[in-house]
Amino acid sequence: MNNEELWKAVLGEMELSLSRANFTTWFKNTSIVSKDKQSVVVSVPNGFIKEWLENKFNRRLLQSIRILSPEVREIKYIVGKPKIELAKQDFSGLMMDKEIEEKSSSDVNNSVDRNTNLNKKYSFDSFVVGSNNDLANAACVAVSKNSGKIYNPLFIYGGVGLGKTHLLQALGNKIISENKDKKVLYIPAERFTSEIVEAIKNRTIEDLKTKYATLDLLIIDDIQFMAGKEKMQEIVFTTFNELYSRNKQIVFSSDRPPKAIPALEERLRSRFEGGMIADIGLPDFETRLAILKIKTKEKDCELNDEILTCIATHMQKNVRELEGALNRVIAFSQIYNRIPEMKEIKNILNTYLNAPYKKTSPQTVLKAVADFYDLSLADLIKRSRKKEVVKPRQVAMFLLREETKLSFPEIGQKLGGRDHSTVIHACEKIKGEIAVDEPLKQELVLIKERVYNSFDK
Ligand code: ADP
Ligand code: MG
Repeated sequence: MNNEELWKAVLGEMELSLSRANFTTWFKNTSIVSKDKQSVVVSVPNGFIKEWLENKFNRRLLQSIRILSPEVREIKYIVGKPKIELAKQDFSGLMMDKEIEEKSSSDVNNSVDRNTNLNKKYSFDSFVVGSNNDLANAACVAVSKNSGKIYNPLFIYGGVGLGKTHLLQALGNKIISENKDKKVLYIPAERFTSEIVEAIKNRTIEDLKTKYATLDLLIIDDIQFMAGKEKMQEIVFTTFNELYSRNKQIVFSSDRPPKAIPALEERLRSRFEGGMIADIGLPDFETRLAILKIKTKEKDCELNDEILTCIATHMQKNVRELEGALNRVIAFSQIYNRIPEMKEIKNILNTYLNAPYKKTSPQTVLKAVADFYDLSLADLIKRSRKKEVVKPRQVAMFLLREETKLSFPEIGQKLGGRDHSTVIHACEKIKGEIAVDEPLKQELVLIKERVYNSFDK
């Protein structure tokens, strides 16, 4: 196995346990530049990434190198000029869409506009309409033609990787393309939250409100992250009223319908429900096949129908993964310079279908719980019986038990030296409650999402 293959295998493994954005951030343009008996030298694009790999990923990288090369004892990281072409190809093999797309289309297509946060690559033209998304698509198209006048707010919901962001961005792009003077802003709810926190700290919240209130179109993506965030909901509410009264458009997306978002203020919920709500479901086979065709074309590649049919048959739950699998197949054929055989295709798909269980750490769980309930870690741990902390603490205990391998006494230790019987009681209580308390169950889903999407695993 040469260096290139070794690194590819290692990245392949990392990729499975990280979000795509995360993976791109840390592993883009990295490569093994040399290897002797005991050590491997990895070239990285800059000092920042070097530091991250050394501090956050070294252990995992070393582990996975040693599976293939057990004699290796250490990894050295150097900031170096990557062999661009090689690194790129290497990377596209794993990373799939973005890189390959960059290779085949000009860079303009992929840049994110700093003022609007819109990425030009998302358009209505490149969106395949099927029975799973035709209402959502029609609503977005209608709003792009009649912004602020028909469906306000527009609320799109659906599971992960089913095209919400694509549609929302396409809508924004369409409006800008027809009138450059329109003030459009796309913002993921998480970023919106951190802007608000920042503005409160800097006492610039009024400026922030003004900034939002003067928009023609405000798109907030993944609004489920507002759950339990009162300050944010208040600002969304006032901004909404402001924009609405001036016939300016607001568009939201979420992974579930408004009534299933826990800890969402009633007045906000009824606002959402007062506009247009459209969902995106799972694409059927024809739609999946059509998506594969459009994506292969975008990437300037050709794959025969048998291969595309096979991918479409097996990847059913998530368009992002459908695309990921396609990219893997494309990368395979580029790297080996031949069309993969059916058996090989199935192997490639299997890595998706049986992605290993993602691991996490107690610290990550605690942090996710604290963040979610707007508490500090210290609040969560210290000895207080205040209602605001008792429940989050019980949730933390429950999640530690479910998501990590800690024993009851160890969990007690992590949470300020509590007795194991307290932990058992908490776990049983939460377990009983989620069986009957839907909002609580949803909260746990959200927290888990954070656990597995966070950096410090
Ligand atoms: P979500 O925001 O719902 O999690 P995204 O909008 O990020 O999902 O979609 C994930 C990927 O799948 C994107 O690359 C997007 O372009 C693609 N995609 C999803 N649905 C479609 C579709 N109907 N047609 C073309 N591409 C799609
Ligand atoms: Mg999205």
